[in-house]
Amino acid sequence: MIQNLIKARGRAHKIWEEFDFPHPTEVPLEDLAMYRNVLVVAGGLNGAEGRLVRDSTGGVIRVRDDILQDGRRRFTIAHELGHWELHTDHSQFLCSESDMRDYGRSSLELEANHFAAELLMPTVHFRPRCQGEPCLHDVKELAQDFCTSLTATAIRVADLSKFPIQIIWHENDRVRWCYSKESKKLPYVNTNREVPRYSSARLPRDQVANHMETYESADWFPQLQHRKPEVAEMTIRANRLGGGLTMMWFLDR
Ligand SMILES: [Zn+2]
Repeated sequence: MIQNLIKARGRAHKIWEEFDFPHPTEVPLEDLAMYRNVLVVAGGLNGAEGRLVRDSTGGVIRVRDDILQDGRRRFTIAHELGHWELHTDHSQFLCSESDMRDYGRSSLELEANHFAAELLMPTVHFRPRCQGEPCLHDVKELAQDFCTSLTATAIRVADLSKFPIQIIWHENDRVRWCYSKESKKLPYVNTNREVPRYSSARLPRDQVANHMETYESADWFPQLQHRKPEVAEMTIRANRLGGGLTMMWFLDR
C-alpha cells in the first residue's frame, strides 16, 4: 500500500515538474484537467462531492456547485484528477465528502487524496512552512495560503513535519480514523472507540481553545499507561458533520 501512495505522490510531482508553476495556488486545475483530456463541470450531483466518468474519448469531472469554500472545491477536483491519473481501469468514481477525508479505509480514496495533497501542497513549497512546533491554528492558515481543505492540510503537516503528530477525525464522539506517518511508528488510536472525556475534542463550544493545550495522553492511548506521556492537543469542530478534527503531538518523545 505504501508503494501505491509513493506512486500517487510521484505522479502529482511529475505534473509539477512538467508545468513548473510558480506557486501551488496558481495551478489552474480546470486547465490542467483539460490538458489531460478531462472536462471539469459544476453541478449535476446528488449527495456526492465529486464524480469522475471515463470513457475511451476522455473524462468528465463533476464537482458539487454549492461548495462554498474554494479550498474544498479545489481539493475535490484534484482528488478526481488523482483517480483519472492513477486508476485507469475504473470507468467511474462517485466520491462523498467522507471519501475526501478518508485516511483509513479505502486504498483508492487514500491514493487519490495523496495525489491531490502533493499537487496542491507540493513538498518543495510546503515542507519549509511546517517545521515549527505543530499547531492546528497554523494548519488553518496553511489551508488558506495553499487554498485547500483543512483535513488534507493537517495530514500534509503530519507527513512533512519532524514532530510526532497524530491526526484524528471523530464523529458523534467516536473515532472514525487516526492518521500518523507510518515511519514515525506512533501508537494508534483504535477506530470506533469513544473520544476520551478529558480531551480537547470534548470541550464545550465556548471553551474551545485556538491554540494547542497540554493533556495527558493515557485516555487516548491506554496501551501507554505505564509511561503517561503528555500531548499537545487542539480540536476544530465541523458542526455541520457532527464531527471534529483533532491534532496532537507527543511532547516527550
Ligand atoms: Zn474518490
